[in-house]
Amino acid sequence: MTAKIIDGEAVASRIRDRVTEATAKMEQEHGFRPGLATVLVGENPASAQYLRMKRNRCKKVGIESFGHELPADADQETVEGLVRHLGADPRVHGILVQLPLPGHLDEEAVLGATPLTKDVDGFHPLNIGRLTMKGRQPLFVPCTPAGAMTLLEEAGARFEGAEAVVLGRSNIVGMPSALLLIHRNATVTVCHSRTRDLPAVCRRADILIAAVGLPQMVKADWVKPGAYVIDVGSNRVDDPTAERGYRWVGDVDFDEVKEIAGAITPSPGGVGPMTIAGLLQNTLRAAEMAIGAGRESE
Ligand code: NAP
Repeated sequence: MTAKIIDGEAVASRIRDRVTEATAKMEQEHGFRPGLATVLVGENPASAQYLRMKRNRCKKVGIESFGHELPADADQETVEGLVRHLGADPRVHGILVQLPLPGHLDEEAVLGATPLTKDVDGFHPLNIGRLTMKGRQPLFVPCTPAGAMTLLEEAGARFEGAEAVVLGRSNIVGMPSALLLIHRNATVTVCHSRTRDLPAVCRRADILIAAVGLPQMVKADWVKPGAYVIDVGSNRVDDPTAERGYRWVGDVDFDEVKEIAGAITPSPGGVGPMTIAGLLQNTLRAAEMAIGAGRESE
């Protein structure tokens, strides 16, 4: 069996087109466009590169972006102060604090300083708290797990009663992915570095989401025939045959696993583009909510 390849770039491109249309309409009708503020603390080159990509994408879809950079030794008060200042700026509808923050900063407090209505990354403790509770709705859901769910839907995965396994329990990918799957009535197992016999646990999965950060860890014999496999991993590996001397691979051994899975995302080209598309979509929604709140207060 050869898996259906889930084209994240194609799905993300459709989302970007819808956002472009909506931002143009917003400018016509309300005289402003959605605005996203980004905050980078320190000089982590990967984080700086992610932010550049996010800001480029904003520009292309008509979202205004406001970049803020602070030195690596910025103290808690300065970082929280900036986030609060952006929270009060009416041109800013969404705030994105690039993680990870330098170790001396209290990440939870910084994220908590973002107003809920501008938490377009969905990492505010209240938004995450609501995601964990039955019958509560977060205002925003973290973009990478939301993108993974959209790709599963696009591929036709059935969630109800499905066995789902999430490899990884990070705050930004693994845990919220597991919660979103539970909301869709899947039966979810979350694996981590202390899980025993990972291949056997993964083989039970009708839906497998891999987010460990270990290149090509998931092999064909870890996968149930016909399973839906979402590879969130994005790992740089040396490759002397590549022009730059390296290439990017996922957490799943794509060439092997595509021969047994029912559907699979490539990496790159799967979840990655969906993460940025989700951020654009959330920023648009934050601006729409601000318009709605303005109307209510009139
Ligand atoms: P992370 O914070 O490092 O978490 C990794 C998780 O994997 C942890 O829960 C860890 O377990 C678990 N793990 C590590 N080694 C393991 C092993 N040998 N067996 C089983 N579990 C193991 O990583 P993350 O931020 O979630 O990112 C995961 C991957 O997704 C990375 O490749 C990252 O680059 C990628 N990513 C991609 C996007 C995108 O937009 N495409 C966005 C975010 C992340 P413990 O909890 O026990 O330590």
